[in-house]
Amino acid sequence: MPTQTSLKAVTHWVGGKRSESTSGRSGTVWNPATGEPQATVGFASVEEVDRAVANAKAAFPAWRATPLSRRAEILFRVREVLHENRRALAEIISLEHGKTIPDALGEVARGIENVEFACGIPNLLKAGFSEQASTGVDVYQIRQPLGVVAGITPFNFPAMVPMWMLATAIACGNAFILKPSEKDPSASLLLAELLQRAGVPDGIFTVVQGDRVAVERLIEHPDVKALSFVGSTPIAKAIYENGTRHGKRVQALGGAKNHMVVLPDADIDMAADAAVSAGYGSAGERCMAISVVVAVGGVADPLIQAIRQRIAGIKVGSGQDEHVEMGPLITGEHRDKVASYIEKAPAEGASVTVDGRNTAAAKSGGFFIGPSLLDNVKPGMRCYEDEIFGPVLSVARVNSYEDAVRMVNENPYGNGTAIFTRDGGAARRFQFEVEAGMVGINVPIPVPVSYYSFGGWKASLFGDLHIYGPDGVQFYTRSKVVTSRWPDPSTSKVDLGFPQVR
Ligand code: NAD
Repeated sequence: MPTQTSLKAVTHWVGGKRSESTSGRSGTVWNPATGEPQATVGFASVEEVDRAVANAKAAFPAWRATPLSRRAEILFRVREVLHENRRALAEIISLEHGKTIPDALGEVARGIENVEFACGIPNLLKAGFSEQASTGVDVYQIRQPLGVVAGITPFNFPAMVPMWMLATAIACGNAFILKPSEKDPSASLLLAELLQRAGVPDGIFTVVQGDRVAVERLIEHPDVKALSFVGSTPIAKAIYENGTRHGKRVQALGGAKNHMVVLPDADIDMAADAAVSAGYGSAGERCMAISVVVAVGGVADPLIQAIRQRIAGIKVGSGQDEHVEMGPLITGEHRDKVASYIEKAPAEGASVTVDGRNTAAAKSGGFFIGPSLLDNVKPGMRCYEDEIFGPVLSVARVNSYEDAVRMVNENPYGNGTAIFTRDGGAARRFQFEVEAGMVGINVPIPVPVSYYSFGGWKASLFGDLHIYGPDGVQFYTRSKVVTSRWPDPSTSKVDLGFPQVR
């Protein structure tokens, strides 16, 4: 095992260059495919966060004053530079997160979509104008940036989720500070270099590495005006409560338990393909992964059989290996937690139909669990109530469409959900009745395209606005309404009455 001192050190990015943490606190970045440490990441102290915020604050006025056409021009270049370097980004993601290169390339592509959306910023910032609101009076709205804004991101999308935030935040004229996950922090530094190469001024994109110390300082810092958070529900809730208590604008996206309802008339092969792709892709470490298949009526047995057949063909191994379809989990600790749900399932009354705990891939020492399938899962069981966040797909059997919708709606999470059916009327009813923020109709992972916004309901989002897209523009700007008169001096007089519009 390499010694801590021989490992690569992942730094902050402040003022357009890398800067090492001197806090004396750090974390280990693992190679999940081998189970060995591959880097260390220095955790920011309060003083380091303060320096980063001061730097961003100093850069903000000039960026805010930069014409929209120039900002758009830089964003077009950001798009090109990111696209040209997508393979390098995907390799870093795969090495630290463990996902396969094609999966990581997909993540980068979905992130770049947000930059493409932000290229339209001159149009997106257009607001209303009312001529002659009163005699000789015009009223108009403008949207202005907030100042220094921060984003705190999870391990499972180390490039895409930062891009959900930074593209819109910067396009709107803010200075953006990213606190990436300490588990796979290196993609943030490549993003920083690429943004700089594309012409984003120093100080407008900053990276502060760290843990809760850095996050708490960003929450408390008076010069940080807004916080975007994506991660697990307990932390999302705490950040929303703490951030709003400090007077900040907060959007905090949390965890998920996504149900896929399969009606008796569904195409079984299509539903099985979808369940397997959405349940085991990225080893189930996606907030939009399908976690529970809700099988209605007689569909359960043929569906389970079709899912089992597909599981048998999934190649598990290092994400760096081009033949592999599913990589390891992020850490040994997380692997053990995921395994514990499979272990406890029988005592709770569920059956383990496929057990991936002894997958051959684990011989490498990496943090592997093979695709696993639980049947007869019911509300109340831990494997149903908790977000497992691993390659464990549960099947819940229900008698009717109504039972299926009740199960989805009674679940505390409400991120994504999907229905598989050939019946347009049933699908439309589902879209009307179901309580989740993102709904798929024969689409298992309905992540909205960048010109809509992404967000769940219930315990999957705290705050009012969803992330990226039109909601993102609203989140990263504040509205100002101007009432203007250019009086004719000949009509000017003193009038102490309250202004009226007629
Ligand atoms: P996490 O909540 O552990 O960490 C997210 C971020 O919060 C990291 O940057 C981490 O350093 C920081 N953090 C952790 N503990 C903290 C604390 N006590 N105080 C302050 N900051 C803290 O989440 P994770 O394990 O990195 O990511 C997986 C989770 O993220 C899953 O629950 C998944 O569903 C969720 N997720 C949600 C979405 C969504 O859009 N809703 C998207 C991706 C991931």
